[in-house]
Amino acid sequence: MVHYVELPDGRCYPVVIDSLETLPVWLERVAVPRGRCFLVTDEHVAHLHLESLQAILKTAGWTPYVLVLPPGEPTKALPYLERIYDEALRWGIDRRTPLLAFGGGVIGDLAGFAAATLLRGLPLVQLPTTLIAQVDSAIGGKTGINHALGKNLIGAFYQPALVLADPSLLQTLPEREWTSGLAEVVKHALIGDPALFSLLEMRWTDVLQRNPSLLPDLIARAVLVKIRIVVQDEREAGPRAILNFGHTFGHAIERVAGYGHFTHGEAVALGMLAALWLSHQRHPDLPLTRIRALLQRLPVPPLPETLDFKTLRQVMQVDKKTLAGQLRFVLLRRLGEAYLADDVPEEALQAAWQFACASRQTAVAY
Ligand code: NAD
Repeated sequence: MVHYVELPDGRCYPVVIDSLETLPVWLERVAVPRGRCFLVTDEHVAHLHLESLQAILKTAGWTPYVLVLPPGEPTKALPYLERIYDEALRWGIDRRTPLLAFGGGVIGDLAGFAAATLLRGLPLVQLPTTLIAQVDSAIGGKTGINHALGKNLIGAFYQPALVLADPSLLQTLPEREWTSGLAEVVKHALIGDPALFSLLEMRWTDVLQRNPSLLPDLIARAVLVKIRIVVQDEREAGPRAILNFGHTFGHAIERVAGYGHFTHGEAVALGMLAALWLSHQRHPDLPLTRIRALLQRLPVPPLPETLDFKTLRQVMQVDKKTLAGQLRFVLLRRLGEAYLADDVPEEALQAAWQFACASRQTAVAY
């Protein structure tokens, strides 16, 4: 399955949902000249999948240089960016040498930024290996690293030449990484694809069990939502912000609970419940019960005691999604259609949080 990201200025690249075996053919199709390539991955992915990727590349006449970095968010930082620069320059890359990012969002963002800046831009090939990366972070060109003062503060918009997502790689993902990614898929369904929402509802057990016959369609649908949004607004000047559905509460939840308690996807799953309540206040026709039922099926750890509304509200105020002191929310007008709202009344916020907490009391938990 292939979808194309066609930007208004004519730039275009394929997002392929297929086996890694097809990589050499796709590299040729996007006119990346065969020869040497610089491959960045992390230890987990290397342990599970590097051997087969290297065999595919070598059989097709490629010479890969492999850099394996530690797994996890701390790798998305300056010292590891420098490592990529050092090893790539010492190995003697030139402007035509493709950089292959083989991993989750951490490797994709980090290696993507390296590709954007090395020799003023190398061809970037995203080979995403987590659900989040396949349906979200590998597409759309946001690359970057974290800074001590905050996440993703250093970066560039840099579109890849090719994205190849192999659904079979997701079978080795740890359980929580899988369900965390599912929260993003549910989000894509809510903001952009009612048919995807129905598919999730009807096949939830298969979805949780990663039924291989379902995954390509699931991923392709979620990918399309991301592509439709990105092509309207490459640099996040406006509409792209709807991808932040659930994030105003979600970011605050992540911070107050302490990074590491909830995964990003789990915090967003809780944030989506609050945003759903706010949306329903304005749009009573929105199928609240139906949407809540699906969100309750996403497993989330119990809410810690520290997660009280007052603290959450304070943290939300300093979040970057406030505009001149006013909180910004993404709301649903209907299933599959979202918009930005800067005028959510203060008194609604506590009720929204209570709704989220009450919904979790009867929900699936770890
Ligand atoms: P990640 O890259 O840290 O991967 C999560 C874990 O899964 C890691 O331990 C990794 O080693 C492991 N892993 C990866 N693939 C595996 C596989 N196939 N089998 C077994 N284990 C595997 O994190 P993530 O959740 O993929 O991405 C989160 C990052 O993405 C954050 O830094 C976030 O800021 C970024 N992000 C970027 C965008 C964007 O538009 N650029 C969008 C969303 C998120």
